[in-house]
Amino acid sequence: MPLLEVKNLRKSFRVNDSLGRSAGQLVAVDNISFQLNKGETLGLVGESGCGKSTTGKLIMQLLHPDSGEVYFSGDKLTQLNPAQMRPYRRRMQMIFQDPFSSLNPRMTVGSILTEPLQIHRLVPSRQMRDRVIELLEKVGLSAQHELRYPHEFSGGQRQRIGIARALAVEPELIIADEPVSALDLSVQAQILNLLEGFQRENTLSYLFIAHDLAVIEHVSDRVAVMYLGKIVELTGADELYRNPRHPYTEALLNAVPSPDPDHPRPKALSGEIPSPVNPPSGCYFHPRCPYADDLCRQQEPPLVDIGEDHQVACHHSDQVGRYLLKK
Ligand code: SF4
Repeated sequence: MPLLEVKNLRKSFRVNDSLGRSAGQLVAVDNISFQLNKGETLGLVGESGCGKSTTGKLIMQLLHPDSGEVYFSGDKLTQLNPAQMRPYRRRMQMIFQDPFSSLNPRMTVGSILTEPLQIHRLVPSRQMRDRVIELLEKVGLSAQHELRYPHEFSGGQRQRIGIARALAVEPELIIADEPVSALDLSVQAQILNLLEGFQRENTLSYLFIAHDLAVIEHVSDRVAVMYLGKIVELTGADELYRNPRHPYTEALLNAVPSPDPDHPRPKALSGEIPSPVNPPSGCYFHPRCPYADDLCRQQEPPLVDIGEDHQVACHHSDQVGRYLLKK
């Protein structure tokens, strides 16, 4: 049984114009399905606004879907009320891009880490401080940081505090929403190594949300590529980077800069993301796709299995790779 199963999840938002009149509906997540196994990292990648973060919030039940289901360890979360959901909140944690906005500026780091331990009654009071210090040390901080406030830390240190808070409740699943995108490259590597270390020690599973394919490649076992609310490609990380079968994935790979001076220069993705309030006909990617033809403009391609545990939503997936910059 997968640890997490998402089935046909859909979420839309009503959009108003500047006068407050209804201007349509924005479908942020459009009928997506995937599974995440115990101990696995699934990367969820795509440009900003493609529905990745909304997916994370739907899984955590911070948003309620229009339709579709989320199962955790076989239990259906989408029908639970807040009280019934509480035990699952301990087992599933979220790490955010900007830990500063999710850390209470009026609380010391010690109190921030004590709070979840108290709420979930995980540690007897007399052992609370030892546990807080243990958590700080786990993420590369120390007891001397316990009485400081979030603003006294660098971005990387604040992300370490966010991770410590998530780890405090010994979760089975962490949804990491762009956890390193606001950090310098060297700090990014430290945080990614930290997360990987915890996964090995604790059989943690991650849903790792990012817009950067280089980061996703570093951490993921499998990768789901999202475009305008839909999953357009889903496969193992090695297969995706070696053999992309969706033109959008190909374009994202071409946009990744390489430290190798002999590597061709990265190519920015052409065109703007269409408005999700008024998406294009047929395949949503057709206005930006070099392979597009009339079929693409008229018919939406379904997500189909093309073998090797590889799913793709493209009418011409057999042709993709023609424009891939060779490494
Ligand atoms: Fe491009 Fe057509 Fe495939 Fe869409 S279906 S990604 S437009 S080739």
